[in-house]
Amino acid sequence: MIEQFQVQGAKDKYIVYNKVLGKGAYGVVLLAKAANLGSYHAAKIISKKSLSQTDIFNLRNEINIQSKLAHPNVVAMVDAFEDNEYLYMLLEYCNGGCLFTNIQLSGPLREEKAQQYFVQILKAVQYLHSKNILHRDIKLSNLLLTSQDQVKLADFTWSTSLQGGCVGPQICGTLEYMPPEVLGNKVQNEKLDIWSLGIVLYEMLHNDFPKLGQLFFKFGISEECKSLIKQMLEKEPYRRPTTSEIQMSPWIKRYHRYKELSINIIKSSNNLQDQKGLNSMSFVAGSPLGSPLRSGLGTPQINTLGSPQKNKLGATLGYSFNNGFESPLGSPMQSPMNSPLTNVGKRVATEPTRISAQKLV
Ligand code: AMP
Repeated sequence: MIEQFQVQGAKDKYIVYNKVLGKGAYGVVLLAKAANLGSYHAAKIISKKSLSQTDIFNLRNEINIQSKLAHPNVVAMVDAFEDNEYLYMLLEYCNGGCLFTNIQLSGPLREEKAQQYFVQILKAVQYLHSKNILHRDIKLSNLLLTSQDQVKLADFTWSTSLQGGCVGPQICGTLEYMPPEVLGNKVQNEKLDIWSLGIVLYEMLHNDFPKLGQLFFKFGISEECKSLIKQMLEKEPYRRPTTSEIQMSPWIKRYHRYKELSINIIKSSNNLQDQKGLNSMSFVAGSPLGSPLRSGLGTPQINTLGSPQKNKLGATLGYSFNNGFESPLGSPMQSPMNSPLTNVGKRVATEPTRISAQKLV
């Protein structure tokens, strides 16, 4: 039997299940369900006992910033509240795992796939920067996937608002994704996130971190892609492109051109099918054999409505089986703990580490 408990939130009552979705710097993330709405969420639960003043500051900051954000590629915070012992953050549930684990399991991505994810990550970062917010901890394990293969940027522990275009020196984030200005304890601006984007793109393609200074690319990566990565990994922040400049880079433009082209191909093949449907209708309608109108109209209807519906169903089933999530509680991704709150409050390593990625507090 699955252990569960209930908490009263600000917006709903939540049933929290003994199903661990992950562990962060401050606590554990469990699956939860809104009692009235019936929607599933990820509940980040943090024990207040073990928190220092800095931790409390970081968490307040995370809640404050994340509650103001609304973007399809940013994990939404649906509720935040506390009781005597714990702080709760109820987040939009992403059931496809994080990009880090996905890439660890399936190997480096093909350039087209990396491009498809990168465009979404870029949109999230562009949105943050347009609101003068720096994320400061962009990495594969903070990029979550939905069952629709949509990427969502998560974990705003280190995010901060820009004051006059920059923020003071602070060593924060994850070592392997930190740009030289952070490691050198210098003033930071939005170019800090651009560096991390460069590491993320390289990592998606190689399943490894770049060796800075002697950047090696695997065979087959396009020149436009290599050039963009090199620009994002420029040592001097002012040399790195902004998110808008990245949007205009030949590599990203190529993606949009390709997408437009495939949409046009789909549109024109649909038109062709429509025309075929009309032709067959007029042919049957003109047939001297029995009730032409019914069979004439019937054929295209079965074709156009029948097969897409079947495909849609197939795709949906495919997703649930792939992710093991017919119901979010169906097949636990990770072994359940004895009690849902066993791990809450312990400061745990956040990363499925490749080398020694760690949070610096
Ligand atoms: P964090 O404390 O934000 O670093 O989260 C720790 C881990 O919990 C992540 O690496 C994910 O595996 C998992 N997690 C966090 N937020 C979510 C979410 N919204 N949906 C699903 N899993 C999540």
